[in-house]
Amino acid sequence: MQFLFRFDNPRKHQKDMIQDIYNSLEQKRSIIINAPTGIGKTDASISAALSYALENNLNVFFLTPKISQHSIVIESLKGINKKFNLNLKYVDIVGKRNLCVNEKVNYIEGEAFYKSCEQLVKAKKCPFYTASKEKEKLVDLFDYMQEGHNAFFNKCFEVGVCGYEATADMAKDARFIIADYAHFLNPYTKKTFLKRIGHNLENSIIIWDEAHNIISSASSYMNRSMSTYTLGMAEKELAAINSKVDISYMRFIMEKISDKMLKQKDISEAFFSGDEAYKSLTSNILNVSEELEKAALEYLTKSGSKRSYLLQISRFLDLLKDSDNSTAKILSKKGEDIKFSIINLYPGAALESLHEAYANIFMSGTMLPLYMYKELLGVETAITSNYQSPFSSSNKLCIIDEDISTKYENRTISQYQKIAAKITNIKTNTHGNIIAFFPSFDILKNVNKYMGRDVDFIQKSEMKSPAVQELLHSFKKSENSLMFGVLGGSLSEGIDYANNVIKGIIIVGIPLEKPNLELTSKIEYINKVFDGKGTEYVYLIPAIIRSVQAAGRAIRSEKDKAFVILMDKRYNWGVYHSILKDFITISKSENYLESIIEFNKKHLNKANHSSI
Ligand code: SF4
Repeated sequence: MQFLFRFDNPRKHQKDMIQDIYNSLEQKRSIIINAPTGIGKTDASISAALSYALENNLNVFFLTPKISQHSIVIESLKGINKKFNLNLKYVDIVGKRNLCVNEKVNYIEGEAFYKSCEQLVKAKKCPFYTASKEKEKLVDLFDYMQEGHNAFFNKCFEVGVCGYEATADMAKDARFIIADYAHFLNPYTKKTFLKRIGHNLENSIIIWDEAHNIISSASSYMNRSMSTYTLGMAEKELAAINSKVDISYMRFIMEKISDKMLKQKDISEAFFSGDEAYKSLTSNILNVSEELEKAALEYLTKSGSKRSYLLQISRFLDLLKDSDNSTAKILSKKGEDIKFSIINLYPGAALESLHEAYANIFMSGTMLPLYMYKELLGVETAITSNYQSPFSSSNKLCIIDEDISTKYENRTISQYQKIAAKITNIKTNTHGNIIAFFPSFDILKNVNKYMGRDVDFIQKSEMKSPAVQELLHSFKKSENSLMFGVLGGSLSEGIDYANNVIKGIIIVGIPLEKPNLELTSKIEYINKVFDGKGTEYVYLIPAIIRSVQAAGRAIRSEKDKAFVILMDKRYNWGVYHSILKDFITISKSENYLESIIEFNKKHLNKANHSSI
């Protein structure tokens, strides 16, 4: 059959992927796909899902964890429309805040923005909302939607209509909707979103891009916290609007509980009882959550502030009242700041959408082991597919250094010196950029003390996103540099180092999470729900995936060539190795510096020679 595919011919493995997805849809079954970089999974999934949806009168949702991934979807749909002369209607929903043209509120962050918008609409005080109900103003907007959400937003601003309302109206007739995970995984917004756009899930195929993020994203929407710092800021907000609401007693209660549970026992974190905390924190105010929300909105209107801590406390109390045993309630103290946190342990309720849909297509480049995702996503009848990388295996050299271990008891000065010497030697023998990733900032700093050469770029724990982006930008422009970064951070995941800018990656240690109450609670909960698999699913596999993500930064196209050194003997041990080998082909080497030199000579030319 002829699939709706924008190019002349599918790439290697892409054809199989299209056919596999189409077959799963014919059986009304979900499919879980591991598709390494280079396969072209966005085009493959759109081709199969759209072809099937149009034949069977279904709709398609393409969901991503980040807005930046929407543009490639638009490109694919534009190409299909052009090649097949279709008039396919699609919309790109990037969230209300990003489509809000009302400058009185669109600078406000988080939930405070949604509440402010709601208040304006209720009071009939948003002219853009009113204008978006005049159908004739929306007539030409679809053409701008074809160019992506930025062009669309600019046009909405020019015409004077609310971008979100216009998009939601257009979505009613659209066969293909691009949106963020939050629209489906955030239980607070899902129902209203689907109702607003007039779609139901039974008639929809959902494509989940970067689907290895589903569980953590869904959990994140259900986490809340309140600290003595938050309380202090909220009290300032109340003072700024001369409010009579008094929350000072909350700080007193937190300090009292902290004294009893942490200080007297000399520990930094402990579980607390949700019921008791709720009763004591709300005992002085009737309808406390509503009072705080009202005060928050008054504060936002009067102050022009971007956020409100009062609203944060209100939401925390709401969740505290409703939370069940799928959450861990943890009291912790850092310096003088005392914090109550409600942590979601497994987002079972948020995954309902998966079962309501006609079928789901879950895809990612790190969707292994497939059995784990089948179980965690609760889609036992799903088909699973794993495709090989389309790039030549000779383009990558991957070796485990068994001489190193960063296990806690091995973290000695001599071990750090050894690691530093090895990194220095590898860099000396490579003409080109190298990144060394570490499991923590602590280990990074310790190794850096003994480096025999300067490290050109170093990620620091205090760096905010713009500073990390600047560091990355400078590194990409450089030609023969060494950069240090951490695993699981913004330099090691979700970032494209295009044009073979990295010639080698060194991964020091295994990025296992630091044991704390949150981690142990998650392990215990998953143990109960998934038959004793807590340690594997919550602790071990995510750590290896972090290393795999970092290792994957070097090879982004068929032309890229790079080596990867995994510096920790545990990568060769049982469970770690069994996960790792599904992602990476490991080479054996008696003297791996010789192997790197050979590899560099063959691929990167200007390598020198010395011994490690
Ligand atoms: S209705 Fe639209 S334009 Fe008005 S505040 Fe809400 S999002 Fe912004």
